[in-house]
Amino acid sequence: MARQTKQKNIVRKRSYPAARLARQQQPLAPEPNRLVKVWRRVLERRLRTRLRAKVAIEIHDNTHTMLTFQRQRALWRLRLHHMFLAAPDDVLQALAEFVREGDAEASLRLDRFIERNKAYIRRVSPAQMRKRLRLDPVGRHHDLGRIFERLNERYFESRISAAITYGPAPRVKGPRKSIKMGSYSADSKVIRIHPALDQPVVPRYFVEWIVFHEMLHHVYRARRGEDGRRCVHPPEFMEHERRFHDFKRAQAWELENLDLLLRARIGD
Ligand SMILES: [Zn+2]
Repeated sequence: MARQTKQKNIVRKRSYPAARLARQQQPLAPEPNRLVKVWRRVLERRLRTRLRAKVAIEIHDNTHTMLTFQRQRALWRLRLHHMFLAAPDDVLQALAEFVREGDAEASLRLDRFIERNKAYIRRVSPAQMRKRLRLDPVGRHHDLGRIFERLNERYFESRISAAITYGPAPRVKGPRKSIKMGSYSADSKVIRIHPALDQPVVPRYFVEWIVFHEMLHHVYRARRGEDGRRCVHPPEFMEHERRFHDFKRAQAWELENLDLLLRARIGD
C-alpha cells in the first residue's frame, strides 16, 4: 500500500527546460501564505467570470471592515476578509452584484454571510489596540482630553468610552489641498484630530465641533443605506450634529478660515 503514494508524484517525471527547473527548486514560501495565495487566485478567477472584468484581490484580517472595493479603469480592486476565500457560489454572486450595481438585496445576503462567519473575525480588545498606539491628546493650545470629557458629560451622559489624540503631522510640501480634520477608528475606538487644529487662532468651539462630530461616529456606526452603499453620515447622525451648541458658528468659521488650516505649519 505504501507504494501507492508514489504515483501521485508522476507529474514530476515530465521533462522541464533547465530554467524552469531552477525556478521550481526555489524554496517554497511558508505553507499558510502559499495556500492563501492559491485560494486568492481561485477567488479572483471565480469573481472575474461573474464581474466580467479583471479582478485583483487583497486578503486581510481586519476586525471591522470586511470588504471594500474600487474600480480602476478595467480592473476591480477588492480588499476582502479571509472568510471570503471559501465563500460559496451564491455569496460570490451576491458579492459581484453588490460590487457591480450596489444591489441592496445582495448587500443583505453579504451581511448574513458575514454574520454567520463572525467566528473567524479576530478579536482585539480596544485596550490592546490603544496600547499599540501612542496617544498624545494634550497639545499646546487645545487639550483634547478635556474637550472630550466635557462634551461627553454635556451631550452623552459620559457614556462614550473612546480615546482621543492628535494625529501625527502628515508631511506635506507647500499648502495642503485638503485636510482631514478628524477621524474615528471603530476598531481601536480612537478619535484622531489633525494637529493643525492645535493653534491659538483656532477657536475652542471649532475644535469642540470636530471632536463632537467624531464622537457621533462612535454613536452611529456606518451602515449600508437603502441603495446598498455605505453611509457614514446617516440622517440621524446629521440631525444629532445640529444639536451642537456652536454648530452654525463653527461651520461659518470653517468656511472663512479653511485656508488658514490648509497653510498651517505643524511642529514649529
Ligand atoms: Zn464624519
